[in-house]
Amino acid sequence: MHIAPFLYLLAQLFVLEPPKTAIVPIVPKVVEDSLAKYVYLSFDDGPLPGTSNCIDVCTELNVEATFFEIAMHQSRSKYAKSLYNRILENETLFTLSNHSYSHTYGKYKEFYHRPDTALVDFLLAKNILKPTNNLVRLPGNNAWNTLNGKRTSALVRPLVKKLDSAGFNVMGWDLEWHFDKRGKPVQSAAYVASMVDTLFKYNQTMVKNHLVILMHDQMYRTSTDSAKLAEMIGLLKQNPHYQFRKLTAYPGLKNGGR
Ligand SMILES: [Zn+2]
Repeated sequence: MHIAPFLYLLAQLFVLEPPKTAIVPIVPKVVEDSLAKYVYLSFDDGPLPGTSNCIDVCTELNVEATFFEIAMHQSRSKYAKSLYNRILENETLFTLSNHSYSHTYGKYKEFYHRPDTALVDFLLAKNILKPTNNLVRLPGNNAWNTLNGKRTSALVRPLVKKLDSAGFNVMGWDLEWHFDKRGKPVQSAAYVASMVDTLFKYNQTMVKNHLVILMHDQMYRTSTDSAKLAEMIGLLKQNPHYQFRKLTAYPGLKNGGR
């Protein structure tokens, strides 16, 4: 007997298949900043003189912002429509949301006492502004209604319920930069920035680590005042954990904010 074929067969029995290496796809890891705090700049009542400067400042500093617009303001002039279009054109940085058609015509109590008429006012604004989101802000009233929580006064509650049934998210604010009788900013940029730090520190926001700032376009119509807006944003940007977001990225929005 030839021994060679025997050894060959024996060898075949013990030959192990080379191990198959599993192919693991390389997924780049997104490094989440566990200390991130989100700042939502919101500008109300435009288009107005001042809107242009808000757009310019946010564009130059590359920060996201939300414009709550009044449909009556948008429809009254070509200039207003051009400001409206400038906001829409920059989808990366800006979002435009519904702040009613009439802004109550200055008669807040009457407006909120007639919730059906008030709802029609918001629906009319929706038809004119054609926002790509379902966010609204009430005129002159800090009310909230998202999946994350409700906070409303008795005056506006009937309207908020109707807006909720109609599929809207009602967005309030955590901090307001106030304006005086001439429509100019009251507090300094440094004060507003320090308030942002304080509210985050003591968890005094509607949703933890998310802070909405209310401002009005008209406050920044002069170069001196728009420089204050740039200063405030610049101060916040010094904190590496602060990230600017549009309100469509706010947590807990019904239907994802759309
Ligand atoms: Zn307003």
